[in-house]
Amino acid sequence: MAELLSSSEFRICNSIEDAEIVILETCAIRKKAEDKVYSLLGRLKQLRKKSGLPKKIVVCGCMVTEDGAKNLVEEHGVSVVLGPRRISRIAEALHESETEPVIDISFVWALPPYDISAPYISGVSAYVTVMQGCSNSCSYCVVPSRRGAAQSKPLRQIIDEIKLLETKGYKEVILLGQNISYFGIDKPDTPRLIDLLEIIESESRISRIRFVTSHPAFIDDKFIERLSKLRRVMPNIHLPIQSGSNRILKAMRRGYSSERFLELVRAFRNGNENFTINTDFIAGYDGETPADHCETLELIEKAELDGAYAFPYSERNGTRAALTNNENSIPIIERKKRCKEILDKVKKVALERRKRDIGRSVEVLIEAPGVGRSEGNINVEFEGGRSNEFGIVKIKEVSSFAMCGELEDNCLQEDGIEK
Ligand code: SAH
Ligand code: SF4
Repeated sequence: MAELLSSSEFRICNSIEDAEIVILETCAIRKKAEDKVYSLLGRLKQLRKKSGLPKKIVVCGCMVTEDGAKNLVEEHGVSVVLGPRRISRIAEALHESETEPVIDISFVWALPPYDISAPYISGVSAYVTVMQGCSNSCSYCVVPSRRGAAQSKPLRQIIDEIKLLETKGYKEVILLGQNISYFGIDKPDTPRLIDLLEIIESESRISRIRFVTSHPAFIDDKFIERLSKLRRVMPNIHLPIQSGSNRILKAMRRGYSSERFLELVRAFRNGNENFTINTDFIAGYDGETPADHCETLELIEKAELDGAYAFPYSERNGTRAALTNNENSIPIIERKKRCKEILDKVKKVALERRKRDIGRSVEVLIEAPGVGRSEGNINVEFEGGRSNEFGIVKIKEVSSFAMCGELEDNCLQEDGIEK
């Protein structure tokens, strides 16, 4: 949205107190995220009372629902409400709202000519949304109801976006989709994810390609084999498992077992033991016993994870879990405790993985002098270097999620492929 608005008469301002328009891009995945938006809306109401600013409040993203939109306008003084697939209409909607509030939460994706991804991560990496929505039905998840069914972006548009980013000097693209492993399945004549990655490698010269978020139930051995041949797709995957207990995975309707997850982990690392694997966990899902939780802790060791996020389970209205399982719910304090245990275990396991990197020379994409990321997406620190160039860093020290070393070589990529 910042990118889209920067080409019209709008300017980004430095403080919320001075802003004539405040845009809130919202997340609804957990209740805490939604609560934060309501508290910010309360603060904006106070500001407006005092100074008359902001004149307009815009609420976008997953918090927006059919029922909630009217309430945002009537109770919270919001002028524009845009659903997740409509944010590229931001400039238009701001103009339309001069006369009356605008509510547009249609699930029809507003695609070209506007939908060029905004830059991200210090002008080195950029996100490219390749699909919207999700057609799964994980029991705890609000995404399908807030974002609608999966819809893949047309191939030509993705390639054009990447080429544009390339000419702007970006070295890395991160393809985005809620369940990116599902890419193309919604359109029979569209390439699947692995085809897309191969096409990007052959048609663009972008140096690094990543993709998130993958889903274990939609990855097969053929995918992994073809992936291993792609040199510019980075050796890292974010592959959320959610739980190490098959009983809980079944209740969550995830469609795979912990054994299958471990098989995938082995297959990704087969031939490249430095392939890094990150995951997500939900702690304290309804009915999760201490034994289920132990299975999760064991899985962290077995999978030798490089990193993970863990979230205390949050009941979301309208999900299958919120409708059915309430009598089995785990106290919030216990969910948080289990969450911490998961994160502590991940920290320990990841440290062991990183120790193996001591003495290795790793290629780093430098984001700013002194900091960059390895091919495995690990933060690396060193002395010197120039932004947006590649360097080789000899690793001297490590922590669980970062490495530190000496910049050996700092050679500019001349043609974006060969160094
Ligand atoms: N599509 C991805 C995840 C998208 S949501 C997948 O299927 O794996 C990002 C993460 O938020 C999830 O991996 C999950 O760990 C967490 N999450 C989703 N719903 C949640 C809920 N109701 N409570 C707590 N965490 C949740
Ligand atoms: Fe939610 Fe991910 Fe499941 Fe889709 S696949 S319903 S986004 S958790």
